[in-house]
Amino acid sequence: VPDLAPHLEPVRTTCPYCGVGCGVLARPDGLGGASVEGDPEHPANFGRLCSKGSALGETLSLDDRVLHPMIAGRRVTWEHALDEVAARFARIAEEHGPEAVAFYLSGQLLTEDYYVANKLAKGFIGTPHVDTNSRLCMSSAVAAHRRAFGSDTVPGCYEDLDEADLLVLVGSNAAWCHPILFRRMLDARAKRGTRIVAIDPRRTQTGEEADFFLGIRPGSDTALFSGLLVHLAESGALDERYIADHTAGFEPALDRARAIAPDVAATAALTGLPRAEVQVFFDLFRTTPRVVTAFSQGVNQSSQGTDKANAIINCHLATGRIGRPGMGPFSLTGQPNAMGGREVGGLANMLAAHMHFTPEEVDLVRRFWRAPRIITGEGLKAVSLFEAIERGKIKALWVMGTNPAVSMPRADRVRAALRRLDTLVISEAVATTDTLTARDDAIVLPALAWGEKDGTVTNSERRISRQRRFLKAPGEARADWWMLAEVGRRLGHREAFAWPNAAAVFREHAALSGFENAGSRDFDLSGLAEIPDAAYEAARPVQWPLPRKAKSGRARLFADGQFFTRDRRARFVAVQKPVLADPTSETFPFRLNTGRVRDHWHTLTRTGKSPRLSAHRAVPFVEIHPDDAARIGLAEGDLARVSTPYGHAVLEVMVTPGAQAGALFAPMHWSETTSSAGRVGALAQGAVDPVSGQPELKATSAAITPAPMR
Ligand code: SF4
Repeated sequence: VPDLAPHLEPVRTTCPYCGVGCGVLARPDGLGGASVEGDPEHPANFGRLCSKGSALGETLSLDDRVLHPMIAGRRVTWEHALDEVAARFARIAEEHGPEAVAFYLSGQLLTEDYYVANKLAKGFIGTPHVDTNSRLCMSSAVAAHRRAFGSDTVPGCYEDLDEADLLVLVGSNAAWCHPILFRRMLDARAKRGTRIVAIDPRRTQTGEEADFFLGIRPGSDTALFSGLLVHLAESGALDERYIADHTAGFEPALDRARAIAPDVAATAALTGLPRAEVQVFFDLFRTTPRVVTAFSQGVNQSSQGTDKANAIINCHLATGRIGRPGMGPFSLTGQPNAMGGREVGGLANMLAAHMHFTPEEVDLVRRFWRAPRIITGEGLKAVSLFEAIERGKIKALWVMGTNPAVSMPRADRVRAALRRLDTLVISEAVATTDTLTARDDAIVLPALAWGEKDGTVTNSERRISRQRRFLKAPGEARADWWMLAEVGRRLGHREAFAWPNAAAVFREHAALSGFENAGSRDFDLSGLAEIPDAAYEAARPVQWPLPRKAKSGRARLFADGQFFTRDRRARFVAVQKPVLADPTSETFPFRLNTGRVRDHWHTLTRTGKSPRLSAHRAVPFVEIHPDDAARIGLAEGDLARVSTPYGHAVLEVMVTPGAQAGALFAPMHWSETTSSAGRVGALAQGAVDPVSGQPELKATSAAITPAPMR
């Protein structure tokens, strides 16, 4: 495939992996490849890249690409494929109601793709069932932000990590999963003596490098932070003025915290930590004003994830440590554009542009879009959405850039559910995903991949950066937003889906965020609502909010104590006592935790192409504590069968002293396409957090036995 001409000047773009959102300089070689290096001017990474980012040039081959539209395995024209999608969606909506159509999106999509999918579904088809794999990533943090701040707002920025004196990492293996941010944390330690505390059931690389590691019992984070709130109250460390002037609900939250973890001894008993360690942590937090508590999937991927996040936020509100340099709770997002999806409202419990479903908000979006079929309430979140497909309630599903047949909990059921659909549409760059091969009559639309597409992504600190094209589109691949717009036009909405390019989509997205927004909503990007094409092309990274006439975005929010609740006060949340959703039993006495490894990403569709990255962990494995391994008769390198009430997989044993006794850990990356081990997602339970709908992926009851020789 001929490429764009080799560039003398590198193309500035953004890494497609994690939510750190590092800037990348890409130099195409004219032969379909490119070399990459970190962008020294990008404020997320200042020129650095981690192992995954620096290997991006090794992952650009066209092996396994979807190159042409296909229906039931036969190549068709774009016209035919798009006509077919529109006709089938129209027929199904007519026969079964618009709610029989659903979309399952991805944090890998660009904001422009997300915006068009959300508009098509919620304003024009009239279905609320738009959810995303970001449900599995950070939806508990979103829900916690909304409960505490009245808006889904990350209060701080990456500079806070540089300026903190205490960094508390909860349920976060940042050393592997947000490596460039972790290096910033290590720099802060070297420069200003910042102490790093890691709180996690696993002693990961982050725990190894931290100054202080707290190996808590799985699921007990809420107890630890409830105990901390009580300790702050009883040691005179509260910011009484801040609580009185800027918050509500403190007393009930403190009463609940007291009921859960009344003192250090009770906290130690609930978390399984030595009392002295709890005391050291509490004292560190109490005596260090500049503290950032960063949390990630160990908090979010939990049936009580929202409470866990609110228990953390409670401690920051109680000490007034929020929105000021070096202070605040900080949600580290997993995916490159989880935040952009939230901005457009691409989650089942949002409408658009951080708006929800008050009559005023619905009316506002209806008028802005001139939408004929605006939805008025929430749709089904990811786990419920696939259950509705299983029950035959949803007949048509468009999956965009994600692989739920591997990554969803109860993944075998998800794959079976896909076969029940009347119509499965998949826009995808990779031809071999388990989702794409789940049935042979899908409508498959060739999507652009990283380096070929143009648009924006938003990282964990609300910073919007451009992803830019530097490779020619292979075959007939097109942008996801373009396919969606073509279907919208075919459904009769020519004006509403008439954008000439991604810049025009972005302008509309920015304009909606500022439409009749008198400062009552946090997400305001109207300063870019009229950005010309050339300026969009040249745009440098910028943080939101960026209201009309603002000269720059804001690094921090809430320093003035003004939140986005009706009375402008933040809310303390009275959290529930920690309970794991899936108790262990005689048959399943272990707890299975799932997660990532350093050099792989999601279901291996990109990182699997790099021999260098694959060498780090070459095969699917299970970590087990040495005592458990010895008792069961397992040694390093053996094959073990890991079973849960929901499925099983055969994995290579890794005997790991940093594992807790009674706990197992298996990475989520491999699938039946990439190994014979089985999908770890198939082992995970389907319990979800009652507020966020985020599934529990960290504590499923499990058994492990030596695998019979094959
Ligand atoms: Fe890419 Fe994340 Fe690594 Fe940065 S830290 S290079 S965004 S994977």
